[in-house]
Amino acid sequence: MSEQQFDVIVVGAGPSGNAAAYTMAKGGLSVLQIERGEYSGSKNVQGAILYADALEQIIPDFRDDAPLERHVIEQRMWTMDDKSHTGMHYRSDDFNEERPNRYTILRAQFDKWFSAKVREAGATLLCETTVTELVKDFHGKVIGVRTDRSGNPIMANVVILAEGVNGLVGQRSGLRDEVAPDSVALAVKEMHFLPREVIEARFNLTGNEGVVIEAMGTITKGMTGTGFLYTNEESISVGIGCIVSDFAASEVTPYGLLEAFKNHPSIKPLLVGSECKEYAAHLIPEGGYKAIPQLCGEGWIVVGDAGQFVNAVHREGSNLAMTTGRVAAETVIALTRKREPMSAANLAEYVRRLEESFVMKDLKKYKGIPALLHNNKLNFFGLYPKLISQAMQTWFRVDGVDKKSKEKEIFKAFREARTIWGMIGDAFRVVRAWR
Ligand SMILES: Cc1cc2nc3c(=O)[nH]c(=O)nc-3n(C[C@H](O)[C@H](O)[C@H](O)COP(=O)(O)OP(=O)(O)OC[C@H]3O[C@@H](n4cnc5c(N)ncnc54)[C@H](O)[C@@H]3O)c2cc1C
Repeated sequence: MSEQQFDVIVVGAGPSGNAAAYTMAKGGLSVLQIERGEYSGSKNVQGAILYADALEQIIPDFRDDAPLERHVIEQRMWTMDDKSHTGMHYRSDDFNEERPNRYTILRAQFDKWFSAKVREAGATLLCETTVTELVKDFHGKVIGVRTDRSGNPIMANVVILAEGVNGLVGQRSGLRDEVAPDSVALAVKEMHFLPREVIEARFNLTGNEGVVIEAMGTITKGMTGTGFLYTNEESISVGIGCIVSDFAASEVTPYGLLEAFKNHPSIKPLLVGSECKEYAAHLIPEGGYKAIPQLCGEGWIVVGDAGQFVNAVHREGSNLAMTTGRVAAETVIALTRKREPMSAANLAEYVRRLEESFVMKDLKKYKGIPALLHNNKLNFFGLYPKLISQAMQTWFRVDGVDKKSKEKEIFKAFREARTIWGMIGDAFRVVRAWR
């Protein structure tokens, strides 16, 4: 393939790259998508939650044939100490709607399905090919890519970098800095297989209903992070992730952390009898709004995890990936139709549109959260979960102690552990970061 010219090259075939490539191919552009894996999804073997809204805007009838596992009807949020959990659960029959809002999926299958749609739409997909660098003209404008297949460049009017969290192509080409270790989490995850009727009985589900558990507390051993468990059709995805710089400063290994989480008395019974068939480790960008790199320039745009588009508070990533991919694609289509150059000034329309979308609004809203959690991790991931568990234990244990005395005991425990001013300060910091 020498000196071949495409309207656009998309680097990566994850959700952001697929959303971009699909939208542009449907829009009539000549699209080359390059993926280093054997197929789209081969590097993403984990289970995950799919947020329907983002995909619906790209493929409205996706429910007809997408490989969906269960639609989520119940969300459990747990604060955990070593022996217990305190939970807030929300379950509603409203989620048993005709067009459910959230599904559990297996990424390897889902990405493969999405990729088939991309090819049906007319894009060319080149797998087992790694983009090694961007090709620039004398003025520094990106005009194509080089791959590990041959020395010949492949040319395009614009390159969309959908290469995931590491953003190595962008880094090597001097478009961005290395991802900081305190802005990225390492998540480890396993798939545990069980018969579907066992999952349904264990989680009080019928048919394709599903449950999600998100957990925080002493399970991360004082590091900033969370654990999670999702029910799939015939498997359970269970995992835990913490900020990389916290792992580096600790003796705890990611695998050791996952083993401890799986053996927690609140998690173990949910997995009992299952067969673990898959293990995966992956990075998640969690630096939020302040970690977003430059998003476009002369002849290039960044989408998805490569742009740090993950809302760690709500555990949303793939929907931001698909939305940024779609918006980038629509920007490129509009410029192509108007025969406008793919200049930094013109491509900045992508950023302007993102600023008006939930993507930037949500990330901006939580821009103080990563630093808040990182700087107060021992309190938020250790002290408070322990105090909450202790308070619940005191409150619910019936032991002849009157309720007024129990209230005093609970308050005293909080006051002695954190002081009144410490708690007021924490509450103030949370409110300020949450706005
Ligand atoms: C354990 C875990 C659980 C998660 N759970 C959820 C969840 O439940 N819900 C949710 O919404 N999000 C979740 N996320 C986040 C979500 O997976 C990401 O936000 C999403 O995958 C980002 O999509 P992307 O296309 O930008 O990047 P990726 O999915 O990482 O895709 C990038 C692709 O680019 C390819 N690539 C990289 N470099 C090159 C190169 N040089 N040349 C060619 N190809 C290249 C890679 O092989 C890969 O296929 C989770 C992430 C992890 C790690």
